[in-house]
Amino acid sequence: MSTQRQTTIGEHAVVLGASMAGLLAARVLADAFTRVTVIERDALQDTADPRQGVPQGRHAHGLLVAGTRVVDELFPGLLETFEPDGVTTLHEPDELSFAPGGHKLCSDGPYERPTPSYQPSRPYLEWRIRTALLERANVELVDRCKLVNLERDGDCVTGATVQRAGAEEERLSADLVVDATGRTGRTAKWLAAMGYAAPPEERLEVDIRYVSRHLRLRPGALGREKVIIVGAEPGRPTGTFFAAEDDHHILTLIGYKGFHPPTDPDAFLRFAEGVLPDSAMAAVRDAEWLDDPVAHRYRASVRRRYDRVKRLPTGLIVIGDALCSFNPAYGQGMSTAALQAIALRDCLAAGPRKLERRYFKTAIKRTDIAWQLAVGGDLALPEVEGPRPLPARLANAYIGRVLRAAEDDWAVAERFMQVCWLVAPPTVLFRPSTVRRVLRANRRRRRAPVPAVRRLDAAEETR
Ligand SMILES: Cc1cc2nc3c(=O)[nH]c(=O)nc-3n(C[C@H](O)[C@H](O)[C@H](O)COP(=O)(O)OP(=O)(O)OC[C@H]3O[C@@H](n4cnc5c(N)ncnc54)[C@H](O)[C@@H]3O)c2cc1C
Repeated sequence: MSTQRQTTIGEHAVVLGASMAGLLAARVLADAFTRVTVIERDALQDTADPRQGVPQGRHAHGLLVAGTRVVDELFPGLLETFEPDGVTTLHEPDELSFAPGGHKLCSDGPYERPTPSYQPSRPYLEWRIRTALLERANVELVDRCKLVNLERDGDCVTGATVQRAGAEEERLSADLVVDATGRTGRTAKWLAAMGYAAPPEERLEVDIRYVSRHLRLRPGALGREKVIIVGAEPGRPTGTFFAAEDDHHILTLIGYKGFHPPTDPDAFLRFAEGVLPDSAMAAVRDAEWLDDPVAHRYRASVRRRYDRVKRLPTGLIVIGDALCSFNPAYGQGMSTAALQAIALRDCLAAGPRKLERRYFKTAIKRTDIAWQLAVGGDLALPEVEGPRPLPARLANAYIGRVLRAAEDDWAVAERFMQVCWLVAPPTVLFRPSTVRRVLRANRRRRRAPVPAVRRLDAAEETR
């Protein structure tokens, strides 16, 4: 990605929401507007703590390589401070255990991408990005201030009505308003109420539940693995086990309908036995628990196609989960928000003309592979209902064989991971050199059967 010099587009931009998407958007807007104001409903502390407006921050968050690159580009030097600060930093492939679809990928080979890779906790990452953003003189963050409504003049959004805690409503005029208020963002409804067509919505019901707990392991309880990811597989729950700052770990269990993890501590531990490898489970049994299990239910992946709406007001952009919210089990949300911020930067660089339309098209285009991967991956699971056209079934059958080959073949494993980390297109898996390796490996060996996991009944699921 190239560093681009921006021309000034306008005097004032207002960003609604100071989570990952809002902060990254504000960073690129700071190069194109004289001043940027970020509005956030929560009270923000100068700490890396979870907060009410981002409840998902209590659960493990993977930062993909694509997202890491954007953070590095927008905040040069920030990543280098992570490791000294205690952020989990991976230098060698065997520090990651990745088992998608029931196949533990080979970790015996050299990284082709620059190392290290970082796995900060979600609250830490947001806090550090927020702090770095606010070093810019033309960015102001107003916390404990909520969006009430958008302001418009004819077909142009001219600002927002906001309300600070305990104060009267006030109008903020702006040349550009960016909605980064997350999944529950109301822009689509607001447009409909103002007589614009609501954006068509693409939706896949996944109904997954997250349950997480923090714990402190005995020193040396786990081998070299700092990040363990057990990906989705038909008929089984999934989960992640990440080392985090302050010498603790976070265990996040994830299940589709019928496999929702429980919040009862004993049941949580039993459930973990059906997810984690034995070595990790031994470390967990011996660990000190630091908190009670917390749950988060996520119903559906949703993509709002503003790029397909014929008539839109000018002066309004939507970014992050408000535009596209992916099944979080694929760890894509922060990285796709980052890719959208880069899309915004590139569109701003081309000037103000038809900015909104160009942005929506570019943002969807640059995150389309992520959407296809998440939706395609979910439709490979019988737990998820949805249309499965023949090409999708064939692709998923082939991916099963790729994963089988990737158990022993580092080259295949590395290519598959690059696709998952959003730094290589899925077509690398269909190149003749990969196909040959996949076919050879699948001729050689058959996969050992995996023991079944008992499906939970409805009462157990909600515990
Ligand atoms: C359980 C779970 C696990 C996840 N795991 C991962 C992962 O592993 N990797 C990954 O990359 N992504 C993950 N995600 C997704 C990731 O959290 C989001 O994609 C990311 O936070 C970007 O979201 P956002 O900034 O668009 O919105 P949000 O993070 O939802 O933030 C919206 C912000 O807007 C503020 N706000 C809302 N309404 C108003 C208002 N009226 N006025 C003012 N402010 C307002 C909120 O307080 C909040 O700060 C996960 C999500 C969930 C639910």
